[in-house]
Amino acid sequence: MAKKPQVDKNLCISCGACMGLCPNTFKMGDDGKSEVTNPQGESEEQIQTAIDNCPVKAISWVEE
Ligand code: SF4
Repeated sequence: MAKKPQVDKNLCISCGACMGLCPNTFKMGDDGKSEVTNPQGESEEQIQTAIDNCPVKAISWVEE
């Protein structure tokens, strides 16, 4: 089963780390919080690195 990243905007502190690591997957939304633009924008390993580097653990995998 495929999985995709999701951002909990209630936790996101807008640090920019995820979009710096995975610019094709995450972007800053109009509300100043990270959004997923393309769940397959980077490899699973790269997205996992972004998840691991989010300081507030706002990104998680969800099963599609
Ligand atoms: S790394 Fe986490 S806190 Fe930083 S912008 Fe991305 S989701 Fe938000």
